[in-house]
Amino acid sequence: MADRKKRLLTGDRPTGKLHLGHYVGTLANRVKLQQQYECYFIIADLHMLTTKNTPDDIKASCENACHVVLDAIAAGIDPYKATFYLQSAIPEVCEMNTLFQNLITVPRLERIPSLKEMAASAGRAEMPYGLLGYPVLQAADVLCVKSECVPVGKDNLAHLELTREIARKFNSLYGEVFPIPESLEGEVGTLVGTDGKAKMSKSLNNAIYLSDDAQTVAKKVKGMFTDEKRVHADIPGTVEGNPVFIYHDAFNPNKEEIADLQERYRKGTVGDVEVKEKLTIALNNFLDPMRERRAKFESEKGLLEEFIVEGSAKVREEVKQTVFEMRKAMGLASV
Ligand code: ATP
Ligand code: MG
Repeated sequence: MADRKKRLLTGDRPTGKLHLGHYVGTLANRVKLQQQYECYFIIADLHMLTTKNTPDDIKASCENACHVVLDAIAAGIDPYKATFYLQSAIPEVCEMNTLFQNLITVPRLERIPSLKEMAASAGRAEMPYGLLGYPVLQAADVLCVKSECVPVGKDNLAHLELTREIARKFNSLYGEVFPIPESLEGEVGTLVGTDGKAKMSKSLNNAIYLSDDAQTVAKKVKGMFTDEKRVHADIPGTVEGNPVFIYHDAFNPNKEEIADLQERYRKGTVGDVEVKEKLTIALNNFLDPMRERRAKFESEKGLLEEFIVEGSAKVREEVKQTVFEMRKAMGLASV
């Protein structure tokens, strides 16, 4: 471990395309750190099964896997340096999951708040067994390539704490096999959706996608929630917690323009229309270079699939080695 480049692992469930929330929560850090770390990006289709497991969901996940890779490339990830892989193509990760299961208790898992939220938003009255174990499988993902850094959004921080606990327990019980990974939260831990209510999410129809065209962005911004108490443009409004201003802060590099809009909004001398028009311009300026990179890669047929297939083969070899070390450390049969 000591003489190799440090590793970074993170990823997404193939439940849809990536959006602005992914960008500020994790993707920006992935792009920023890609030279410094050897990067692994998981397409977490087994995690998807915890809330979406019909044959149609699984069929859609194949197409979504390519969307996720293309979105990451569009955002600036170099696919010839980074490794993209499919979680279900690495059965050894499930073996790691089995070996980790007894290092953690059910009450510890039950205390993780995001799992209950996920069960509720998937319409599950009772917690599926797989969903309760989600963070244990996630620990296997992070540790399977002995990753040191995990850039994630706020909802995943508690999961990472559990990964660290599992790594520490394994090492102290059986011997030093795993590094203790650090989580890295994005500049905006949780970006609110265009509805101003819940976090921006693929599953909640409140997202602006990195792949949206300029007109779609304009339409979505036009429909965004702002200060609901402000029924006329001449009423002083609230900037704090207002989704339109949250997006300005996150995506508009013109800080003077934001300060001016904020001042006039507070006084009641600017309408939502102007604030939104300027946000639309800022968002489209932000997305334009991504649109260019996307166009270059999406026209090459089969290329995205190739990245995933090659990446998965590479990761599988790595993980076989990790499992071998785990078995050896534990004193289990080495197969
Ligand atoms: P789903 O609704 O299917 O759960 P999702 O949009 O929540 O999809 P995930 O694949 O679960 O996306 O999350 C991938 C990564 O993006 C995680 O690190 C997560 O913390 C981060 N992330 C997702 N949504 C946001 C958001 N709105 N703000 C900040 N980070 C986010
Ligand atoms: Mg999620």
